[in-house]
Amino acid sequence: MTSPHHLHAVAAAWSLQAARTALAQLARAANRRAADDLLAAASILRAPVYGTRLSGGGHGDPTTGVLLAPPTAHETTWADLLQRSTGRLDWLADAIRCPTGLTVGRIREHIPALPPGTVRLVARHLADEDAWVRAAIRQPRPVEPLTGVPCPHCGERQLVVQTAGPVDAWTVICTTGRLCTGAGCPCGMPGAVEGVAHIWRRADVLGAVAGAVPANTEAG
Ligand SMILES: [Zn+2]
Ligand SMILES: [Zn+2]
Repeated sequence: MTSPHHLHAVAAAWSLQAARTALAQLARAANRRAADDLLAAASILRAPVYGTRLSGGGHGDPTTGVLLAPPTAHETTWADLLQRSTGRLDWLADAIRCPTGLTVGRIREHIPALPPGTVRLVARHLADEDAWVRAAIRQPRPVEPLTGVPCPHCGERQLVVQTAGPVDAWTVICTTGRLCTGAGCPCGMPGAVEGVAHIWRRADVLGAVAGAVPANTEAG
């Protein structure tokens, strides 16, 4: 089943998957740095030059405590953020009866089977989650301008391609923010729904443009 809600949900899922991959990389890098710091600190303490200084130390030695202290408990780490995101996705997966503890990719694969009413909510959750993760990693959702191509709805050349995920999953949105008016709207979206932001498959928009090329050539 396809509706604008389905396209929005799948686009958000691809973007979220990429964002969470970036977040997981930050978490792994931070863990490595923390482990390296501990190893470096431990080797400094073992170094002969400090041997005399630490000889009277032991458990009460404040130097040892400071150098080997783990990150303080109130410090939010990348791993914490990833864990919170995973917790919310597990809740979402459970709500749509998709196995929990799996990646966002599994939720994405489940989207086509969802009825429009459900997928509308799923799309909003995924978009919110994507925005939350992307705010944390400071990376906006990846888009590229679709230069020179008129919007199938309003005709303005302000389309962008949402480029997360594989090319055949890319979608096009109109940045003018004009919403669909539902049945009778000239947008050509499959299952047009009133009040929804316009979204098309990239292949459909480019296909429509390619189909119009002979006319454009004659005119130009
Ligand atoms: Zn438009
Ligand atoms: Zn429309």
